[in-house]
Amino acid sequence: MTLHFAEDAPYWHREAPLDSAEAQPIPEKADVAIIGGGFTGLSCALELARLGRSVVVLEAREPGFGASTRNGGMLGWGHRADLSKLEQRYGAEAARAIMAEGPVSLAFTLGLMEREGIDCDLQHTGRFLAAASPRHFNKIRRDVETVFQPMGVACRVVEPQDQGAEISTQVYCGGAVFDAHHAVHPGKFHRGLLAAALRSGAKIASQAAVTKIEHSGERWRVRTVRGEVTAREVVFAANGYAAQFTKALKPFADTMLTLPSFLIATQRLGQNRVKALMPGGRMYVDTRSSHSYFRPSPDGERILWGGRASLTPLEEATATDRLRRHMSSVFPELADTGIDDSWTGRIAYSRDGVAQIGKLNGIWYAGGYCGSGIAMAPFQGWRLAQKIAGTAEAASPFDVTSLRGWPPSSLMPLGIRAFELWHRYKDRREGVLAPIAYR
Ligand SMILES: Cc1cc2nc3c(=O)[nH]c(=O)nc-3n(C[C@H](O)[C@H](O)[C@H](O)COP(=O)(O)OP(=O)(O)OC[C@H]3O[C@@H](n4cnc5c(N)ncnc54)[C@H](O)[C@@H]3O)c2cc1C
Repeated sequence: MTLHFAEDAPYWHREAPLDSAEAQPIPEKADVAIIGGGFTGLSCALELARLGRSVVVLEAREPGFGASTRNGGMLGWGHRADLSKLEQRYGAEAARAIMAEGPVSLAFTLGLMEREGIDCDLQHTGRFLAAASPRHFNKIRRDVETVFQPMGVACRVVEPQDQGAEISTQVYCGGAVFDAHHAVHPGKFHRGLLAAALRSGAKIASQAAVTKIEHSGERWRVRTVRGEVTAREVVFAANGYAAQFTKALKPFADTMLTLPSFLIATQRLGQNRVKALMPGGRMYVDTRSSHSYFRPSPDGERILWGGRASLTPLEEATATDRLRRHMSSVFPELADTGIDDSWTGRIAYSRDGVAQIGKLNGIWYAGGYCGSGIAMAPFQGWRLAQKIAGTAEAASPFDVTSLRGWPPSSLMPLGIRAFELWHRYKDRREGVLAPIAYR
């Protein structure tokens, strides 16, 4: 399925615009050719170059064109699949090891930012997970007490009557705070990672969409729209954008269900008003089916609001309107607030509901972060580098996963529509206050 939707400039590009300056020539040969210049590809390139490999990152547009500079900047972790689903699929021990990779990825990425001296408006805010119904609150309590706290995750339940310290709304029914989560400016983080990769000696070739990958003797021949490179190893790091530029990545695209997510930035509200609405000053995520995630902008002057305005493509104006209504369902006083920026990006869902890593048809891959990739993508990129270099750190708890295909693209629109209706029905049955009436 090809998705078409408005791709307006993200708020983050105001202070960290994408830059084509890295349109370096494509070398004839490299040890490793990496497809995609987001967090996964750049982190893999940085580490491989430090391990002494010659590396070229081939990026279809400007580095950072994809999800890495279009996201909400909520730096934390969360697997789509919960522990019981993981246990059913992989067994208890492997499931717990996968869960534990979440906090490890966060620590890794915070360490990466520090080590490379990346200035990216990092703030230690914690995250508030807001329950949309009493049943959701009970599930959150159960998860906190039986899964996360025993794993050593710093988190606590917030009772409904104490919620006012976190957020000024009557919509939610309590929730939980995850203390270790942070806020980041993803555009600045990406720019810093790009600079680090260049410093390490990696080559970055922008405007170089890969169009064909062929095995040629001991090496791979990787063709792009502006030249080709032969490489010993090839890395797929195109995640939710795999289908956008070429059919050559189809085997990977077929394993990533790509859904749009939308964001808006309000007009300047002023720090006092933002603080009054979000006294906790955290990153916020709710459990409604038309799930919302929101936060203060790094300067505390605006609210950035993201959500699943639709599971299918939408006109930008419609998406903006829906998100504004999501926002005013939580903060009615913002119903008439101006929206200065509106943008969208593509989230890649793996069928297993957790990050994927490994080799398919001889090509290394990492991706499928299910919307939680700011910490996980750099971590998996680093891990892939260890695998390629054959270091002692090559093994990963995600090794038990394997890419699984989704139903054929001709059936996907129907499946997505059914999924959307099912979730709306579930919300209604549970009395969840719907964020919007879809028209
Ligand atoms: C709207 C939105 C909100 C999100 N919010 C959050 C959040 O708050 N917190 C969080 O943790 N995660 C969030 N995420 C997820 C996170 O942004 C991603 O998981 C992460 O950025 C993935 O990085 P990546 O490098 O794997 O992929 P991307 O950043 O998508 O990079 C893939 C790159 O591959 C390139 N490419 C594609 N095809 C080709 C080709 N043929 N040749 C060459 N290059 C190609 C693309 O141009 C693109 O630049 C969000 C995602 C979206 C879309």
